[in-house]
Amino acid sequence: MPSLREQIKTTALTLTKFRELMKRMQENRPHDDLAIIKKAYDYSLKHHEGQSRASGEPYLVHPLEVALVLAEMKMDPVAVAAGLLHDSVEDTSVTIGDIRKEFGEQVAHIVEGVTKISKIDFATREEQQAENLRKMMLAMVDDIRVVLIKLADRLHNMRTLEHLQPDRQQKIAQETLEIYAPIAHRLGMGKIRGELEDLGFRFLDPDAYRQVEEAVNARRKQGEAFLAKMQQIIGEKLKEAGIQAHVESRIKRLYSIHKKLQRQRIGVDQVYDLFAMRVITRSLQDCYAVLGIIHNLWRPVPGRIKDFIAMPRPNFYQSLHTSVITEDGTPCEIQIRTEEMHKMAEEGIAAHWKYKDGPVSAQDEQRLAWLRQVVEWQRDVSDPNEFLSTLKVDLYPEEVYTFTPKGKVVVLPRDATPIDFAYTIHTEVGHTCVGAKVNGRMVPLRHKLHSGDIVEIITQPGHKPSRDWLGLVKSSRSRNKIKHWLNVHQRERAIEIGRKLIEKEARKYRVPLKDIKDEDFVRVASGYGLGRADDLMAGIGYGKYSARQVLARVLPAGTAQQIPGDLESEVASGPQPSTIASVVRRVFGDHNAITVKGQGDMLVYRARCCNPIRGESIVGYVTRGKGVAVHAINCANVTNLMYEPERRIDVEWAHDDTTPTSYPVKLTVFCDDRFGMLKSITGIIGDAKSNIRNIAAHSSNSQASVDIVLDIMDLKHLETIIAGLRKIPGVHEVQRLQKI
Ligand code: MN
Repeated sequence: MPSLREQIKTTALTLTKFRELMKRMQENRPHDDLAIIKKAYDYSLKHHEGQSRASGEPYLVHPLEVALVLAEMKMDPVAVAAGLLHDSVEDTSVTIGDIRKEFGEQVAHIVEGVTKISKIDFATREEQQAENLRKMMLAMVDDIRVVLIKLADRLHNMRTLEHLQPDRQQKIAQETLEIYAPIAHRLGMGKIRGELEDLGFRFLDPDAYRQVEEAVNARRKQGEAFLAKMQQIIGEKLKEAGIQAHVESRIKRLYSIHKKLQRQRIGVDQVYDLFAMRVITRSLQDCYAVLGIIHNLWRPVPGRIKDFIAMPRPNFYQSLHTSVITEDGTPCEIQIRTEEMHKMAEEGIAAHWKYKDGPVSAQDEQRLAWLRQVVEWQRDVSDPNEFLSTLKVDLYPEEVYTFTPKGKVVVLPRDATPIDFAYTIHTEVGHTCVGAKVNGRMVPLRHKLHSGDIVEIITQPGHKPSRDWLGLVKSSRSRNKIKHWLNVHQRERAIEIGRKLIEKEARKYRVPLKDIKDEDFVRVASGYGLGRADDLMAGIGYGKYSARQVLARVLPAGTAQQIPGDLESEVASGPQPSTIASVVRRVFGDHNAITVKGQGDMLVYRARCCNPIRGESIVGYVTRGKGVAVHAINCANVTNLMYEPERRIDVEWAHDDTTPTSYPVKLTVFCDDRFGMLKSITGIIGDAKSNIRNIAAHSSNSQASVDIVLDIMDLKHLETIIAGLRKIPGVHEVQRLQKI
């Protein structure tokens, strides 16, 4: 229990913030019932009691700040209440069921969507990150408020990032730049995106950030004078023309300056347009009138005039952009837009928030359609790394505007090829695409499309996608369509190849294939644990079973003697199906005494995602060209491997342990940071006769985590050590990290 004095301090601090929140809500949504917010505040006050953040502040400040960001977005009371409760399930004893009972289905759904999946369910950090993102994206398809709360949460975490350890700062900043800022961008929320990007940049690359910041500051004075002059000139000219508009100047965002430096490979002293102007008009016609006036005043830079009003960006951003060269030779970028466009550019999907019956405008509908599509494309991606990388591609702004010969706009990711274009038109057009004409000229399929290109796809009936295309396409939509096609057709091809191999082998036996009954194949297939003859053929086609072995089992005993004499080259020469030969393979020194049932000539290795150790239940997976990967049976990847069950293969730990084998295993011990803790830990490990390869400890707030890599003989050995460590007073949890 915190002291009474602490409690009073906390109450005073959080109450001030809560009053600020209610005031903001009353201003922004005067007609809404705010009782649910008060209730959520009381509830989280009770449940986060005694908790504090890394900054030392009471924990409740965080949900309050998140709720304030949401109130500033003009979100509805349900969203704000969910913001107050967003960490309650993850960080307190509260369950989703409790939230549902107290606050109803909507709030519960949102809170569930932003709650991370328990850490212990994952082998790796990447996998955890990927699965949490996937969960969030699925939840936001039903209720977009899930992602808005996540963005508000991330924004406050970024604003207080300085209190975390540098390595955590880096990871969170990177995720912010790679995932959350792009999501904000795709939702059209320019303001939040800008702040997330600048904060992310500051923590991810502090040196570069300081350089850009110093360069801006060094030129601030001169720049401000320049902008004041520009503002005055434009203001006067607009007045003369009778156009009512608001002229403002701004210093560009540090992150966007940095990106420009990187893109153009120039030093910060070579950037001239750190400063920019914006004209906000009353009407769309005025935008074009203002553009004309500005081009009359100064010479526009060719190629820099962009009409995002006539052709909005995929996130519905609208504006006119131009760059002009002023009298003294300084370039200046000017954006022109209406008030409405400005609001949309800053607030995006939150601009017209009502949320009575969900989002209302057609644009919001389209944004949600985009989200649904992203989720749909990602649904079948089982590899967490692939999920993350395709998500990043999908989140990136699509930059290339191309046209069909009939003038329909096709928006594609940067560096997209005609294959992407074809798949966007129609799946079948994609599959049968053999070539393309760009602006009337034939181009190869690897040709990169540019904005303004008119693309005509040439198809040929019966043509099929090839695996090489995966290297050419840029959109994950095309990638997934190609993969799907390959998966379906690969098995067919494997069956075909399997049959051909059997046929070839049968010729050696001088047995016509038609003499072999289908039942015989089915019988042999079941010996391999397969249901159908086709599964057996596919197995042969994939190279999992040898055609010779299979045929030897199919043919009646005795026939085998007629086989020509090259049999000795076979490793396992077809005994009874019930006694499938086992061959022990040792690779990588003596780390892998693993037996693959029925297979001799195969490279075996322990999968790095789970690093199984002797004694654990294991399963093998026939990889393409890398041999058999052996996973722990509870490895999350195993579930995904079942996608192609025919590549699963039985393996077991070899019994001839003549040489003792040990495996490196990584453990994390979460414990009190007390005197003598490390000695107790190393004592337990020493008593168990294990060798410590590496040990590192981190501590904060009198709590510590100790990472240990140690040599383990087998599962029992590991269990003994973990049990011993758990008995040490002050040790809260011991986790095995599957990845080392
Ligand atoms: Mn949070």
